Amino acid sequence: MAKYVYDFTEGNRNLKDLLGGKGANLAEMTNLGLPVPPGFTITTEACRHYLAEGAAPDGLDQEVEEHLRALEETMGKRLGQADDPLLVSVRSGAKFSMPGMMETVLNIGLNDDSVHGLAKQAGGNERFAWDSYRRLIQMFGKTVLGIEGDLFEDALDALKDGRQDTDLDAGELQHLVESYKRIVREQTGSDFPADPREQMRMAVMAVFDSWNAPRAVLYRRQERIPADLGTAVNVCSMVFGNCGGDSGTGVAFTRDPGSGRQGIYGDYLQNAQGEDVVAGIRNTMPLQELERIDKRSYDELLSIMETLENHYRDLCDIEFTIERGKLWMLQTRVGKRTAGAAFRIATQLVDQGLITMDEAVTRVTGDQLARLMFPRFDADAGKRRIAKGMNASPGAAVGKAVFSSERATELAAAGEDVILVRRETNPDDLAGMIAARGILTSRGGKTSHAAVVARGMGKTCVCGAEELDVDTAGGTFTAPGGVVVNEGDVISIDGTSGEIYLGEVPVVASAVVEYFEGAEPEDDLVRAVDRIMRHADATRRLGVRANADTPEDAARAVRFGAEGIGLCRTEHMFLGDRRQLVEDLVLAGTAEERQAALDALEPLQKSDFIGIFQAMDGRPVTIRLIDPPLHEFLPDIVELSVKAATGEVTDKDRALLAAVKRLHEQNPMLGLRGVRLGLVIPGLFAMQVRAIAQAAKEVPGARPEIMIPLIAAVQELEYVREEAVAILAETGVDALVGTMVETPRAALTAGQIAEAAEFFSFGTNDLTQMAWGFSRDDVEAAFFSRYLELGVFGVSPFETLDREGVGRLVAIATEEGRATRPDLKIGICGEHGGDPDSVHFCHDTGLDYVSCSPFRIPVARLEAGRAALSDTDSDTR
Ligand code: PEP
Ligand code: MG
Repeated sequence: MAKYVYDFTEGNRNLKDLLGGKGANLAEMTNLGLPVPPGFTITTEACRHYLAEGAAPDGLDQEVEEHLRALEETMGKRLGQADDPLLVSVRSGAKFSMPGMMETVLNIGLNDDSVHGLAKQAGGNERFAWDSYRRLIQMFGKTVLGIEGDLFEDALDALKDGRQDTDLDAGELQHLVESYKRIVREQTGSDFPADPREQMRMAVMAVFDSWNAPRAVLYRRQERIPADLGTAVNVCSMVFGNCGGDSGTGVAFTRDPGSGRQGIYGDYLQNAQGEDVVAGIRNTMPLQELERIDKRSYDELLSIMETLENHYRDLCDIEFTIERGKLWMLQTRVGKRTAGAAFRIATQLVDQGLITMDEAVTRVTGDQLARLMFPRFDADAGKRRIAKGMNASPGAAVGKAVFSSERATELAAAGEDVILVRRETNPDDLAGMIAARGILTSRGGKTSHAAVVARGMGKTCVCGAEELDVDTAGGTFTAPGGVVVNEGDVISIDGTSGEIYLGEVPVVASAVVEYFEGAEPEDDLVRAVDRIMRHADATRRLGVRANADTPEDAARAVRFGAEGIGLCRTEHMFLGDRRQLVEDLVLAGTAEERQAALDALEPLQKSDFIGIFQAMDGRPVTIRLIDPPLHEFLPDIVELSVKAATGEVTDKDRALLAAVKRLHEQNPMLGLRGVRLGLVIPGLFAMQVRAIAQAAKEVPGARPEIMIPLIAAVQELEYVREEAVAILAETGVDALVGTMVETPRAALTAGQIAEAAEFFSFGTNDLTQMAWGFSRDDVEAAFFSRYLELGVFGVSPFETLDREGVGRLVAIATEEGRATRPDLKIGICGEHGGDPDSVHFCHDTGLDYVSCSPFRIPVARLEAGRAALSDTDSDTR
């Protein structure tokens, strides 16, 4: 029979799939002998069953009851027992951390009777008992019963009347409980459930349901977390941080998740429950101050942090509570960190002898590297600094200030850069955070929700800028000195320093980019990147090439580590002034006209190739013969038609219009392109091959590879190949002749095609277009957002290679191509060549290289190294 419930003593850190991250790590800490309040975890499997069937699996209730009895036995009291109640928390916990996105209910087991028992337990502390009770009704009401949270907040605010919530006394809190119960009755038509077991059962189901809350769905999409994992539910005996001055709750990191530096890093809040810290409602104190307040707990915490870091061999983050001088661990996990910290920490751990260089490579990601290549503010630019907050998530962001999530989404959709300014963020702001360039808050610490989520997304964030007076309703904030910023005013925020500037500050490239450009690694971050890149290069099997069409791009690609050019798009050489020459060629009426156009193009092509061969200095250069979507090279049909209609036409215009009409295509991406054009316009491909051969002769060591685009049948390839081989033989130049595989038919007949091709390069842009039947030019704007919303795919197949469909075509073509020609060289040159997940796919499928734009090359090198080390199920997600 399936087992749906695990005591904390039964699990371990490797059971994240089943117990979620929180449950698995609570079990791990329990087994390490750390002070974890006893409890149990209901599995993700139970959640998946509940979500699929609309009901909990058979036997779950009974299993929960058995574990609850055992817990009651351990604790020596019963759930909600009137004179001495056991209280529990019910917390979500998925495999991948989704901070604040799902639900938690604390203090389960309280009712009108047990509230007195709780006061007695707490040495007669009535205030604490009533505060705990009102928190239960509030959380339960909002989360489980679906009541608008503001109703409770408003009642609380009215009672506080400008005071802190710690200023409320027992009588006032008891009064608040009555108000809350009234709200529940009015909103649901029923009384707040007094039965503790019923409270627990309902809370568990509500946590299951919260897996599909809109913000959780959105967060998963953003973070690429699969939608079908479900969440586990942790039922944990309550410990209280809100018992008075000798109690409190906090969050700590074993190192600085911003910089990676070792040290004491965290926030502490006296006399509070955990939700108060992460919500950023009250401003916290630095963890170091705990030493002064409660030295014994502080020392114990530091020693536990050391144990955890050595055990997990990584940065851990921790939530803890102190209940009347006794320290309890409520959570740990391998902590999220900024991109820079990820590189620093990985190499620090190597130097401490905790991990190997192989592991260090798997501890960082291509996305993190890409983030380090973002620009930062120009240090020398004139800036008008108006305030400083906390440097919560690094980067430089410039945009118009907006004060609501809705407005952020709206303006971003209209193409504006915005900075979302809030007093504090809550999880409902997620859409706005995604849409914004950066996030600025006036309250909350670095562990507040805004900071954690922004770091996870790699979005610039400055938080806790207390000097700012933010009026979200009025759409304005005021900085010291009376500086007023209204909605729409441009501000610049620096997530690395926490500075806030008025107006637009110019940005400059990152030190990491300068390092890739050839600068000596000077600071510790760049040195860490350098070490990891070298190890990734030594480890990877996949080659990395560049998509580059000019000598400048080629030279940059080499500096960034490209081992060759995998795609030189020759049609890009005909843009600008030269477009006219292509137009002349396509529209040529006679053989003479055509030859004249070709003769004009050939020397230009030759000099292009010479420049590229020189820049590549003996590395292979795959040159794709021309593949222009024809409409890009012809005069605009509408313009010509208008001209004709208004009578301002010459004979030439008339001839042009007739020709353009003849060549007009409904779907040019599927029209007269690539090899098709080569076969229709005699001499075009031959001219290019001749230019390549002659250029190669002039550059010693040049290694051209000639690539034919858009092949669907081997016969097409044979025609072109024959002609190309003859020209190469004539000129005495050695070059491979191969083909792109970018039509489904080419992939499916790869065995035949390999007879005539010495290499394949997958053009996965077109292959995706044709496999899905998605027009490359139109669909993304037209309906992809709806498709993403519906979960048809989690990420655009034009961005990350669709393994099941397009990937299968690639796998078939690779296998069948190599069956014909075992030494067939195979690469990929669609946009996917620089996408981390797609790089792993290429490694797994046995391709020889990936080719991507110069700026993505470092990412591809790193991911190729990680793919070779294969264990990339990193904890740092
Ligand atoms: C492709 O189709 O993937 C490709 C690289 O060619 P292009 O993008 O130029 O069509
Ligand atoms: Mg293509």
